[in-house]
Amino acid sequence: MIKINRSSKPEINTQFNCLSGNNREIIKKELIKDTNDCCSFCGESDISTGSGEIEHFMPKAHFPSKKCDWENLFWSCRNCNNTKGNKFFGKGEDDTVGSLANKPLKFDEPDYKFHDWFDIDNFSGDIVELHKDIDENKYQREMITIKLFGLNKGTRPSIRLKEMQKYRKNTKLIELAKYRKLIRHYFEDI
Ligand SMILES: [Zn+2]
Repeated sequence: MIKINRSSKPEINTQFNCLSGNNREIIKKELIKDTNDCCSFCGESDISTGSGEIEHFMPKAHFPSKKCDWENLFWSCRNCNNTKGNKFFGKGEDDTVGSLANKPLKFDEPDYKFHDWFDIDNFSGDIVELHKDIDENKYQREMITIKLFGLNKGTRPSIRLKEMQKYRKNTKLIELAKYRKLIRHYFEDI
């Protein structure tokens, strides 16, 4: 959910599959750098030592031409990657990319800012949509993004909430926390 400033496309060896061997490592390294090693979707910190994976925003199963498209590759935790799977708003190459109302937010869009779209509920820790009852199209995009990656599923909100509380008491306590970069961003980057 943190804004991603994507660097220019890394140089890979086009004779080989973009996602195998050395090419994969080159792409991974660049994605980790651009996201500060956070999951692009839920914001979990330091995922390269655990469940970090390359996720295709437009699923490669339905959009094979996007498989190696740099703008389509995101650094993701396994949880977000698995939750999303092959789901998307369009069904395939021939399909239109869906109406804007159903388009999930892409966090590397130039004008994307977390605080323009979302808030974190102070009581539940849920990520909440800012445009409910205000702008139906924007609300749809916020809602589908949260759903697509399961951002409020399971223990995620309660972990987030705990870390917000810790942050408010003492910013140093958050050093090892799971979502520390997201929470720091949430409080400091308005
Ligand atoms: Zn994630």
